[in-house]
Amino acid sequence: MNHKIELNTLTNMPILGFGVFQVTDQKEAKQAVLDAIEQGYRLIDTAASYGNEQAVGEAIKETDVSRDELFITSKLWLDSTGYEATKQAIKDSLSLLDLEYLDLFLIHQPYGDIFGSWKAMAEAKEAGLIKAIGVSNFSIAQVTNLAEFSGIKPEVNQIEVNPFNQNVQLVDYLQDYGVKVEAWAPFAEGKNGLFTNALLQGIADSHNKSIAQVVLRWIVQRNIVPIAKSTKPERMAQNLDVLDFELTQSEMEKIAKMDTSESQFFSHEDPEMIKWMANRSVKK
Ligand code: NAP
Repeated sequence: MNHKIELNTLTNMPILGFGVFQVTDQKEAKQAVLDAIEQGYRLIDTAASYGNEQAVGEAIKETDVSRDELFITSKLWLDSTGYEATKQAIKDSLSLLDLEYLDLFLIHQPYGDIFGSWKAMAEAKEAGLIKAIGVSNFSIAQVTNLAEFSGIKPEVNQIEVNPFNQNVQLVDYLQDYGVKVEAWAPFAEGKNGLFTNALLQGIADSHNKSIAQVVLRWIVQRNIVPIAKSTKPERMAQNLDVLDFELTQSEMEKIAKMDTSESQFFSHEDPEMIKWMANRSVKK
């Protein structure tokens, strides 16, 4: 299996990613990224709203792995939507990470002045500050609206994908439309008994793998890039070790039946969540 996915730009994206959402302790975040790189991760996923860009940057500085081997993603928070604010937010992320460029920058949530933000991101890409630009949590209509009315298609849409919320229609559409898909919360953060699920355990046993590995493999086999989080090096190693086995079609179909088509977290259509996000500033 090829370990990279080609984006529309000249950038290649690793097929396994590591994320640091909710790792707010700076020391822990730095150590997690150092451990992840040591274990073999090359795609690191952070965001302005995670409050750990500086710690991620310190780990990148400290590791022996060279910058051009790494694929660093950050995301724009809603307190910076619009053209001018996004230009500043890109500068701020680069400055906190202490990087000359980002491999991928995403609009974190599909609200606010996304067209202004998109223009600033496209310009930053032209200027070499960002290699690839994309979105996160965008629906079919929102991706298509942005792409068709700006003339610039997002290269990636990072969305929730796990066995309980498989997002089949959205994934099929994006892959057909030419937008690469990344899966956030591939384990649904362990909700719903994911790590003790009997069906997944049976499949895991038959391959001598863990449930986590089966889930990541199932995502990779759908041509989706999972972004998994763990602060434990042995789990990081385990979560990377998913490219030496294959799920059968019947196993893929059994996992497909676990879909409830509902987010394990919240609906992006919920007006109360949109109001909450609109009022959440992550600026210092
Ligand atoms: P997740 O990766 O689904 O789950 C993380 C949980 O699984 C942690 O509690 C971790 O515990 C545990 N875990 C990891 N590997 C394991 C293994 N092999 N065996 C048993 N348990 C294991 O959840 P997430 O952190 O919410 O999502 C992953 C990443 O996606 C984030 O870090 C972030 O980068 C991204 N994300 C993006 C968005 C967005 O809106 N774009 C939203 C959410 C997340 P330990 O750490 O203790 O190992």
